[in-house]
Amino acid sequence: MMGTPFIFSAPSGCGKTTILLQVQRVLDNLKFSVSSTTRPPRPREIHGKDYFFISEGEFLRKVQRNEFLEWARVHDHYYGTEKKQVENYLKAGQDVILDIDVQGARQVKCALPRAVTIFILPPSWEELEKRLKLRATESPEIIRKRLKNALMEVSESYWYDFVIINDDLKSAVENVLSIIKAFRCSTYRHLYHIRNLLNSIK
Ligand code: ADP
Ligand code: 5GP
Repeated sequence: MMGTPFIFSAPSGCGKTTILLQVQRVLDNLKFSVSSTTRPPRPREIHGKDYFFISEGEFLRKVQRNEFLEWARVHDHYYGTEKKQVENYLKAGQDVILDIDVQGARQVKCALPRAVTIFILPPSWEELEKRLKLRATESPEIIRKRLKNALMEVSESYWYDFVIINDDLKSAVENVLSIIKAFRCSTYRHLYHIRNLLNSIK
């Protein structure tokens, strides 16, 4: 049985990383696709866990070698999803979380139409700005740029399968868990079991 790719997109600062960390603590058989990026690491980020932090030259060589399932330029840096990593997890029957922007989500949905797309929205623009400022990982100029991009990103939320508003964190996490658990009950994931049951009837 193949695993399912779950694509999560959200405007920067919405709380996507916070939600996904909690989801991963609760569910088994759920892998996180570690992206490659040319963005410099933030203070507590770890190479190989949060991202593979690579140079622009290395990134572009990977693009040329067709190693990415998708890639995009987001907020002035390159980001990409390693094809092999995702394929290996899916083949092993593991579900995979892809934390990627709207451009990447479109590319993955084309390559893997079974992918489930989930968009996380902030309760309001004011709250989004507050969260970005509170996180304090970017300069005021970069925060302004990310808020400007947020408008374009939210206007793409229409075509996602699901939308979750991250107002109360606990509810948002519960909603993500519900979506993943529901997909794990999909009929196509149980075809083998159904066939076995039917074939083993005495
Ligand atoms: P993203 O990954 O979407 O850029 P983060 O997960 O880094 O966002 O969250 C941005 C900031 O907002 C963090 O400081 C985080 O603690 C805070 N945050 C996340 N979810 C909520 C929430 N539901 N209510 C209030 N603050 C939140
Ligand atoms: P951040 O720099 O805040 O970690 O991420 C900025 C944006 O880049 C987020 O919207 C995040 O989802 C997106 N992103 C992270 N990894 C990838 C990736 O591999 N591909 C694409 N297209 N976007 C990514």
